[in-house]
Amino acid sequence: MELYLTFMKKKIAFKTLGCRLNQYETNSVASNFINAGYEIVDFNKEADAYVINTCTVTNMSDHKSRQTISQAHRKNKEAVLVVTGCMANNHKDKLEQNDRITYTIENDRKGEIFNLLDGHFKGEIITPDELKQDRFNYKSAGKSFRTRALIKIQDGCDNFCTFCIVPHVRGRAISRTWEDIKANIKEVLEFGYKEIVLTGVNIGRYEHEGLTFEDLVEKILEIPGDFRVRISSIEPEGFGDKLFNLFSHPKLMPHLHMCLQSGSDKILLKMRRQYTVDEFRTMVKKIRNKVADFNITTDIMVGFPGETDEDFSETCKVVEEIGFSHIHTFKYSIRKGTRAERMLEQILEKIKTERSSIIRSLAENNKQKYRSSFIGKIQNVLVEKINNKEIASGYGEHYIHVKFKADEETRLKDFKIVEINGIENKEDPSIIGLPITK
Ligand code: SF4
Repeated sequence: MELYLTFMKKKIAFKTLGCRLNQYETNSVASNFINAGYEIVDFNKEADAYVINTCTVTNMSDHKSRQTISQAHRKNKEAVLVVTGCMANNHKDKLEQNDRITYTIENDRKGEIFNLLDGHFKGEIITPDELKQDRFNYKSAGKSFRTRALIKIQDGCDNFCTFCIVPHVRGRAISRTWEDIKANIKEVLEFGYKEIVLTGVNIGRYEHEGLTFEDLVEKILEIPGDFRVRISSIEPEGFGDKLFNLFSHPKLMPHLHMCLQSGSDKILLKMRRQYTVDEFRTMVKKIRNKVADFNITTDIMVGFPGETDEDFSETCKVVEEIGFSHIHTFKYSIRKGTRAERMLEQILEKIKTERSSIIRSLAENNKQKYRSSFIGKIQNVLVEKINNKEIASGYGEHYIHVKFKADEETRLKDFKIVEINGIENKEDPSIIGLPITK
């Protein structure tokens, strides 16, 4: 994300790659600079310091992170260049040898970047390894950041799926205290946010002093106020009936991104995922028994070592059967340091590309079908934009993008009830509708 606020003093530019957790952490770090009167500039502009919050989940993420580092260096060769995020953990030695980079900051010290740079500009000599290590050292992002407030509740993962580098770079699972989470939520509600999104690496495994993820969600829903809650991305494991029951709560939004990865039990086992295809199906059924049009989105990885045509066709069947409204498809790529790196039966790139394009086309059909099912229904849209032609847009409860003609009661960052009457077009399948005036 690029940030554009103007203040006097030194100019800082931020770039975030990867997941929502990274985004949350960048927003929070950027807020520290704003509060201290720094000027935040677009990443394409000349700045006194560039902070790049990298991702390393795939080879492509590493490539993009490296390109971003070069881009910042080209903009201003004299600027302070800070590289943080998962690539800073995964390739620390290499980054430290790169003389374009001033500081390489690992994930658990990211919350200290303001102190590092502020000290740097004041002429202090700071060694990154001396910065405080605290994975929850983040203040709430200020009022200027988007419509939805991300709330970090957890970090790290203990699952060690055989393809995944995340536990190596984000560390073991750790959960934030209820007191901290509550204070963070109350603060963003005071800033005027109307939607909070729970984030972390494996949030379903939240556990702090006996409080489980389901207990936590229940407590959050009890906080008074006109706001709604999104769970967003969750691993399909570790949650029980209490969570399914909570889905009937009006504040808890009917959308989950639940990563299936494969529709073949054999491949799930090789991936060391913690569920079978049938268990996944049962979870989906239980959710849809509570809310019939619940929006379930997913990740599918194609070309995992040993994935045969039969395995892949099982995945296609499950994709069609469940009707995910959106699929993030990616081709398996070897990550050094993971168990899958050493697996035999690596799949040819050509086959991975073919499989990925088949999943994309199934996903496209599902998306159109799911969006069509909203015609004639009502959505409560949290308005994010109103353009100069008075077209307002934002997301409804199910996290589907909605556009409508604004009326005089339509306000930015507020809810608006809209009756859906169509789909915009195939390329940009927002659903469109008419506002309902109270
Ligand atoms: S659950 Fe698996 S894929 Fe997800 S972060 Fe943990 S190890 Fe990685």
